[in-house]
Amino acid sequence: MGADWRPAKAPDRLGYVPESKHFDLVVIGAGPAGEKAAAQAAYFKKRVVVVECEAEPGGAAVHTGTLPSKTLRETALYLSGYHARELYGVALEVDRHATLQRLMSRKNAIAAAESRSFRTNLADHDVHYVPGRGRLLDAHTVAVSSIHGEQRLRGDFILLATGSKPHRPADIDFADTWIHDSDEILTINDIPSSLTILGGGVIGCEYACMFAALGVKITLVDARSEILPFLDAEIVTRLKAAMTKMGVHLLQGQRWTRVVRSESGVVTTLADGTTLENQQLLFAAGRTGCVSDLGLETVGLAADSRGYIPVDREFRTKVPNIFAAGDVIGFPALASVSMEQGRVAICHAFGFGYKQAVAADMPYGIYTIPEVSAFGETEQTCQQKGIAYVTGRGLFANNARGKITGDLEGITKLVVDAKTRQLLGVHVIGERATELVHIGQIAVHLGATVDLFIDMVFNYPTLADSYKYAAYHCLAALATKQ
Ligand SMILES: Cc1cc2nc3c(=O)[nH]c(=O)nc-3n(C[C@H](O)[C@H](O)[C@H](O)COP(=O)(O)OP(=O)(O)OC[C@H]3O[C@@H](n4cnc5c(N)ncnc54)[C@H](O)[C@@H]3O)c2cc1C
Repeated sequence: MGADWRPAKAPDRLGYVPESKHFDLVVIGAGPAGEKAAAQAAYFKKRVVVVECEAEPGGAAVHTGTLPSKTLRETALYLSGYHARELYGVALEVDRHATLQRLMSRKNAIAAAESRSFRTNLADHDVHYVPGRGRLLDAHTVAVSSIHGEQRLRGDFILLATGSKPHRPADIDFADTWIHDSDEILTINDIPSSLTILGGGVIGCEYACMFAALGVKITLVDARSEILPFLDAEIVTRLKAAMTKMGVHLLQGQRWTRVVRSESGVVTTLADGTTLENQQLLFAAGRTGCVSDLGLETVGLAADSRGYIPVDREFRTKVPNIFAAGDVIGFPALASVSMEQGRVAICHAFGFGYKQAVAADMPYGIYTIPEVSAFGETEQTCQQKGIAYVTGRGLFANNARGKITGDLEGITKLVVDAKTRQLLGVHVIGERATELVHIGQIAVHLGATVDLFIDMVFNYPTLADSYKYAAYHCLAALATKQ
């Protein structure tokens, strides 16, 4: 990146900082957690410096995770003519080489634009940005090594926001060009003809759908008896049906024991002895915190067995002036939550009188094809908690917008307290699910009853209107309970 992003008002913000300079906050890592934390502190006039070891800020969210995978999804849908196929029965022939180039160039353009936004945001807040690898020397000092040598930064508070990286089992040969983790899959040279995906979590399911849309034969292997077990079971059933229709072959409750390269592809052996061969393999099971060489031991800190740094509710480590936020503290490891954790950590560090906690419940957004999004109680959690509930569904097949767009498999499902009529949960599958869910999320947050959707006027035709029909459906179910 050239000098175009550098703020005219603060040309000295990049790189070298005099050792005599003392900061209120030193942040290690310029992903979503580090960036938002830095901006939050600087907004309240704290002197802040951010250290980043990669060439560009943005972290996994911008370069290897959230945005690249979502950009590839949108581009895959477009280039494969997926929607045209659904609507008009027109199948586009995918030219594998040209498609990959267009996929990657779009992804790179989005990543470049987003990193620029990170830099601009930091510069606009007068945050110093120091390229290099940060390492704790003591509770107030961070050493930064780069090609220019080493410099030291001192601060009252330190935030560790170094993120996570894909877990790589030692017995899988990731040096092989046909064996990938979720970072490397973004640098492939050709779209595989067939792909085994190990891991049926969010990342595995998202990539399975994306490649299936491009016509790749997919085998998805997951050790658990059910994929995405935190979702409402009905939504999982619907998602699996959609994935199967796209040609994804799901193998559940199956552990892999061996992965080896053959002449024609990659052979995976499962615990029951079966073998399966596809041209390439994506390992998408688990991540680990980025803590190596962070100098945790020098201040008496230690990460757990998965590389995650333990923190309390304020995101404070055992060392009172050192905080940690984002993927490096583990669950839920989402960009959405990482940003909030960073902001909340800073409010506690400096005693700002607001934003004292990350919202207890968070929405899940899963960019499969179709999208899935959820907030609040599922039928299963209601049953576990002994809550009497009813459900209602607004079917996209009965919704004018759903018919126009051809999104006939989608639903908005509401879970409502049978005694109080309060909305407890909302579960959406279908295009734009990750946007639609926020309507229900707000209603749950405000303690609204299902009557809210009966009374509201929705734009027409919209998928949001499916909330009204789901609510009517709930009323019918409530009537049978009286
Ligand atoms: C394939 C995939 C899809 C995803 N999809 C979504 C999604 O749809 N929605 C969502 O909310 N989340 C998603 N995520 C998760 C999301 O990317 C992460 O939760 C988020 O990026 C975590 O932010 P962070 O700031 O904690 O860490 P990161 O984004 O990993 O940033 C950490 C930064 O610290 C830097 N760093 C590390 N060590 C040092 C050091 N010693 N010195 C200096 N710098 C250092 C790194 O270079 C990096 O820039 C996805 C992840 C993956 C892998």
